[in-house]
Amino acid sequence: GRGPLATVPDPSDRLLGGLLSPDFDESSCLSRYSAALYRRPSLHAVSSYLVSALHRYESLHRRCGPGTPAYARAVELLRANASFATSSSSAAASGSSCSYAVWTPIEGLGNRILSITSTFLYALLTDRVLLLHSSGDDLHGLFCEPFPGSTWILPAADKDNKDDFPIRGIEKLTDWWHHDSLGSVLRRGEDPGVAPWLYVHLRHDYTKDNRDQQFFCDDMQAKLGTVPWLVFRSDNYFVPGLFLMPRHEAELGRMFPRRDVVFHHLGRYLFHPSNTVWGMVTRYHDSYFAKADERVGIQVRRFYWAPISTDDLFGQILNCTQREDILPGAAGGVPATAKGGSTAGGQPGKQKAVLVVSLHGEYSEKLRDLYHEHGAAGGEAVSVYQPTHLGSQRSGEQQHNQKALAEMVLLSFSDAVVTSAVSTFGYVGQGLAGLRPWVLTSPVDKKAPADTPCRRAATIEPCFHAPLDYDCRAKAKGDAGRRVRHIRHCDDFPRGVQLV
Ligand code: GDP
Repeated sequence: GRGPLATVPDPSDRLLGGLLSPDFDESSCLSRYSAALYRRPSLHAVSSYLVSALHRYESLHRRCGPGTPAYARAVELLRANASFATSSSSAAASGSSCSYAVWTPIEGLGNRILSITSTFLYALLTDRVLLLHSSGDDLHGLFCEPFPGSTWILPAADKDNKDDFPIRGIEKLTDWWHHDSLGSVLRRGEDPGVAPWLYVHLRHDYTKDNRDQQFFCDDMQAKLGTVPWLVFRSDNYFVPGLFLMPRHEAELGRMFPRRDVVFHHLGRYLFHPSNTVWGMVTRYHDSYFAKADERVGIQVRRFYWAPISTDDLFGQILNCTQREDILPGAAGGVPATAKGGSTAGGQPGKQKAVLVVSLHGEYSEKLRDLYHEHGAAGGEAVSVYQPTHLGSQRSGEQQHNQKALAEMVLLSFSDAVVTSAVSTFGYVGQGLAGLRPWVLTSPVDKKAPADTPCRRAATIEPCFHAPLDYDCRAKAKGDAGRRVRHIRHCDDFPRGVQLV
């Protein structure tokens, strides 16, 4: 049995090879230093350059974060200038030395985790401070603070608070044609570099207009450097877009000598489940997985745009897991008592615990029935567990999101992961685990492709589903998947691109 692992191979792994700051109170966030005891040790080294970049960022955040004089000054300047957006008196030139990247939420938790990570990497590259705007309960009680001695939560709008964020209604910023979006400013022929703040619209529909896409262009980045506040909204993992900017190429190369582990490292750096969520995770783990010899995670997601019947999808899961030797087949006609539970030599068989995470309960039920009725071939003992089956997505609710996060984290404790194509929920699980998953292929005409029920992913990196299709140098349409060797179209979603 395994986990929590009795000994960690290298005691410094508690800090994930230097990724985590030791400067936190352990009890306020139990998961921060103990997640490594539950996960397979990472095979992916963290570069010392990334470690020092993160330390530098932490002191920047401490100096500029909410509650500091620098933050109060930046907010005051914004309040004074916000009503004169893009007026000729440059707001940026005067005053505060701190600038900010404000993240705003959209879509499910997986999408949010990936867009927070992307916004953070942008902040890291451009010396901005990342702040999260929460529109209610969505973030509350989910994550611990990632940066020591400060907060990453944007102070709520409150006129009596000196840190009151003066841009009202940022939860309504969702449209590319919004007056203060980068695209709109460019369409009006104004200079974005003098704006006190700008809305950076990177929701999947931003590719409609070249002007929003110019966010990814070097010359635009040079201008945006003087804008103190950038407010982002994206449902995408836009990290590969940052890797397409020549100005960040060298720095990113030093931070990530291997480019296929960006989310693996930044995700483990940023996202520490709160004590409430960690309680759910460890209770479930200790009850059902701690004693297993091997843990298999299966994430089953259904999308309305990729319909398939329950039976067909279940068949696909069996087909994939047996073909790839992830799970044993059923023992066939032989009664379970004769075959299951021990090998031919009478040795106790391997204990495999299967974690199914899904909004739907049918797949784990069918899998459990299968092994219950027939036993597993080869003398293995397979047990199947599913923590919740909530039926439908309710991303505005705190408890719902806490359960979703707990399941992403449990998924990341697996020894082998099977995920559903195109699901950001799955990307987060595989990324935190640091494993290349087997990805269940999207159905074609309501059927799983019979010859390829699943494919081993080429990379542990998430897919950027809506990449730019603008080539900044050519100033024309261009394929982001053909620009550099380490960015390719995604296997699970060919329109997207990913780091390999
Ligand atoms: P995606 O839609 O698969 O890319 O993943 P997201 O996480 O962005 O959105 C799906 C949302 O639906 C999640 O955040 C959860 O709220 C819910 N959800 C989907 N699958 C599961 C699951 O397996 N378990 C739980 N608890 N919630 C899920």
